[in-house]
Amino acid sequence: MKETINNLKEEITALFTKEHTLKELNDLKVLYLGKTGKITELSKGMKEVPNEEKKEFGMLLNELRELFNSKFETSKEELETAELNKKLASEEIDVTLPGTIINTGAPNILEHIIEEVEEVFMSMGYDVVDGPEIEEDKYNFELLNIPKGHPARDAQDTFYIEDEKVLLRSQTSPVQARTMLKAGGSVPIRMICPGKTYRRDADDATHSHQFMQIEGLLVDKNISLSDLKGTFDTIAKKLFGPDCVTRFRPSYYQFTEPSVETDISCFVCHGKGCSLCKNTGWITVSGAGMVHPNVLRNCGYDPKEWTGFAFGFGAERLAMLKYGINDIRVFYQTDLRESKNFDRKDVE
Ligand SMILES: [Zn+2]
Repeated sequence: MKETINNLKEEITALFTKEHTLKELNDLKVLYLGKTGKITELSKGMKEVPNEEKKEFGMLLNELRELFNSKFETSKEELETAELNKKLASEEIDVTLPGTIINTGAPNILEHIIEEVEEVFMSMGYDVVDGPEIEEDKYNFELLNIPKGHPARDAQDTFYIEDEKVLLRSQTSPVQARTMLKAGGSVPIRMICPGKTYRRDADDATHSHQFMQIEGLLVDKNISLSDLKGTFDTIAKKLFGPDCVTRFRPSYYQFTEPSVETDISCFVCHGKGCSLCKNTGWITVSGAGMVHPNVLRNCGYDPKEWTGFAFGFGAERLAMLKYGINDIRVFYQTDLRESKNFDRKDVE
């Protein structure tokens, strides 16, 4: 019996001098201490041992079990430490390596400007209204006090789809006419209509056959030019900063009377004169005026009872001013190298 124990001791010691995997270690445990393991079987033979030898046998058996357990635990610990070190080594992060640049999209700069303007107007109680880009001559010109043959049509020559009746709208003003007609001449109106417009212009740095307008209309009772001035002043300050000063210059449009061109003080030189404002200290940003009585009448509003004002911004012009872009074609050439210079300006 003693010999068997001594043999097992040697066997176990020899076994653990070799390297094992975790699975092999667990198999060894079953082989020696499992239900029918070598040490377990030996314990079962205890009852056949004479009483006077039982104590000694028990001690030897314990020693054997402890030997196995301690060898097993040591090997297991070594193995686990080695595996952990290996894993740490393979997952080491080199913080000096350059990061991976993930390209993310951003809203188009015009979309961004329009949203900004929409927010300002919505905060003042205006609705944002959509209208068709393919428009009838009636809405695009006639209702807006530009009858057939009127010279003002030359400046707004556009793309005709069906004779001279159906065309690509040359301005967003037809949406104003549609809104007034829909309102039936009985309720006040506050709306803006941003959208694409078209003209038969040859494309160059300042002209594009397609551009975006943001037009607005307010119709109510007792509205005067001073309401337009106050509204424009508020909008200009929100878009160009609280120091922005505004002024009106007389102008002429067929659908407004009186008509004005609206200027803001140059936000680069603050009036001193620079290349952006061509040394005048002022920058023209929109056209505006009191809605012409003919237009009110054409669209179902009695001009004796109702008055209103209208204004129109060019989205590209606002973006060009705000971001220092000097060529309108940048917006439509979809050249990412160009547009990515501007589309994240406000986000950064
Ligand atoms: Zn200036």
